[in-house]
Amino acid sequence: MIDLVTDLGEGVGLYVAGSPDVVEPQPSLKLEGGMIFMIDGDPLLKQPAGFHLCPLSAFLDKGREADSLDDLTWYTPAQLNIVTPGSIPNVVLMTGRSRQEGQGKWKPITSTFAQFSAILLDHKVGEKNGTCFLQGESADGARKSSAQIANHILGVDLDSGAPLNDVMATIQKHGLEAVIYTTHSHLKDTSEIKRDHFMKKMDANVADLELLKRYLIERKGVLPHIVKKLEVLDDAKHTAEGVVILVRHEPIPKFRAVFSLSEPFIFAKRGGSQQDAINEWKERYAGFCTDMGFFFDEKCVDPARLFYLPRHKNSNSNFGSWRIAGNTLDLDKFSRVKISRNRRSGAARGPQNAFTAAAIAAGANDYDDDPDRYITDDGFNLRRWSAKFAKHFEIQTMLDTLVGGDFIREPRPSGKPGVQVECPFEAEHTTLGGSGTFVVNAGDNYADGFEGGFTFNCQHAACNGRDRLDFLKELLENEIISEAGPTQQKLPARA
Ligand SMILES: [Zn+2]
Repeated sequence: MIDLVTDLGEGVGLYVAGSPDVVEPQPSLKLEGGMIFMIDGDPLLKQPAGFHLCPLSAFLDKGREADSLDDLTWYTPAQLNIVTPGSIPNVVLMTGRSRQEGQGKWKPITSTFAQFSAILLDHKVGEKNGTCFLQGESADGARKSSAQIANHILGVDLDSGAPLNDVMATIQKHGLEAVIYTTHSHLKDTSEIKRDHFMKKMDANVADLELLKRYLIERKGVLPHIVKKLEVLDDAKHTAEGVVILVRHEPIPKFRAVFSLSEPFIFAKRGGSQQDAINEWKERYAGFCTDMGFFFDEKCVDPARLFYLPRHKNSNSNFGSWRIAGNTLDLDKFSRVKISRNRRSGAARGPQNAFTAAAIAAGANDYDDDPDRYITDDGFNLRRWSAKFAKHFEIQTMLDTLVGGDFIREPRPSGKPGVQVECPFEAEHTTLGGSGTFVVNAGDNYADGFEGGFTFNCQHAACNGRDRLDFLKELLENEIISEAGPTQQKLPARA
C-alpha cells in the first residue's frame, strides 16, 4: 500500500499512522501521529486516491528531520516488514463464506495479527454479504457465544457518523495497534428503520420526525449533526424483513476497527462459570468502548459477533483501509460496564427481559389446559416427553438436521442465542416471513443463564397463547419432523 506520492502522481512512500517510537525498523521520517517509510526503487505510477494520499512536499514541509531527501533512510518493499508490539500476536479466527454460513461450517485460520491486517488492508470490490470472520476461535465450527473458545481480536462498529480523523486520533492517543476500514455502506445517506421497533421503543404511532431523530441518536448512536435535516422518504416501505421507515440524512461515514488483544480472552479460563466469562467479555468490551467514546449496543458486545472482510460496491465507491501502528489492547485494564439488554421506555409491556421471555415461552404453560392438548394424532404424548427431555432438548440442532433449508432463517439479532425459523402456524399470521419466530437449544439457554430447557416462541399475534409444545405438535402432525426427532435428543447435548 503506497500512499505517499510526488506531485506527478508517483507513489514513493508509505504512510503509517500511529506511534513511531514502537516501530521496527525506524521510519525514514517521524511525524506527529504517524511516520513515513521511503521506498527505494521505481515509483509506482498513477496511484489511486486514498485518505493518506498526500504530496511528498507537504510532508517534507511539515515535520522533517532531514535537510534533504538524501539524508533519509530508504527501504525496498521487501525490507519493509514493519513490526510493532501489536502486530506480533498470533490470532486464530473463524471464517465463513457468508452471514448464512452453516453451524459447523466455520473454519479457523491462524496467522499473526500483521498477516491478518494485510488481508484487511486489501479492500475489494464485492457484495456486502460475503466472506466474514469472528473475533476468535470456536468449537466445532459453530457460530454462537456458547461455542466461542477464545477471542483473539476485538472488532468495533463505528457507525455513529464520527469522521475517520477523529477515530484515528482517539486510537492513536491510546497508543493502540488497529486496522480501520470502511464498510459497504460507507457514506450512505439513507437508512431503513424497522417500524415496529421504532414504534415500540419510542412509544410512537406515526413516523414523527423528532422521534425519529431521537431514535437514531439514542438507539443507534448517530451523531446529532447527521440527522439535523432528516427527511422521511417512505413511512411504510414493505421489505422482505418487514415494514421499514425509509429516511434520508447526511452521509454517514461507517468504519470497522479491529484491535489486537494482548492475551487471548479464553472463555473457559476466566475463573468463573462460562456464563460469567461471556458476561465479562461483554462488559469489558463495553468498558473499552466507553473509554474510547465509541457507541456500542447489545449486538456489538456478542462474543460471536460477525464482521465482513472489507468490500466496496465498485471502483467509484469511496473506500479505504488504514493501519495504525501501536501496542496490543489489554482488555483487563478496562473496567467492566454493565449493559442492559432491554432498554424499554415507559411502561413495560410483556416480559421485562429475555430471560423471563424465555421462561414464559419455555415452561410456564406446559402443563395447564386440556389434558389431550399435547397428544398428537398418532398418540405421541408431548407432555410426557417434555417432562423428561425438554430441559436437554437441542431443538435448533434437531431442526437443522431434520428440516434445514428455508425453514431456518437468520441467527437471532442482538447477540441472543438461537435462530429464527419459519412458524409452523405461519399461514395464520397476517404477514408471511419476517423474524418473529425463533428457537433456542436448551444448552444455549443454559449458557445464557436460563435453565428451563429449549425455547420455541412466536411473537405474532396469531400465536399468542401457544407454547413450545404447540409448535412441536404442529410440526409432528404436519410430518415436518417425526417422533424420532424429539426422542433421539434424550441426552444432554451440552458439555
Ligand atoms: Zn406464529
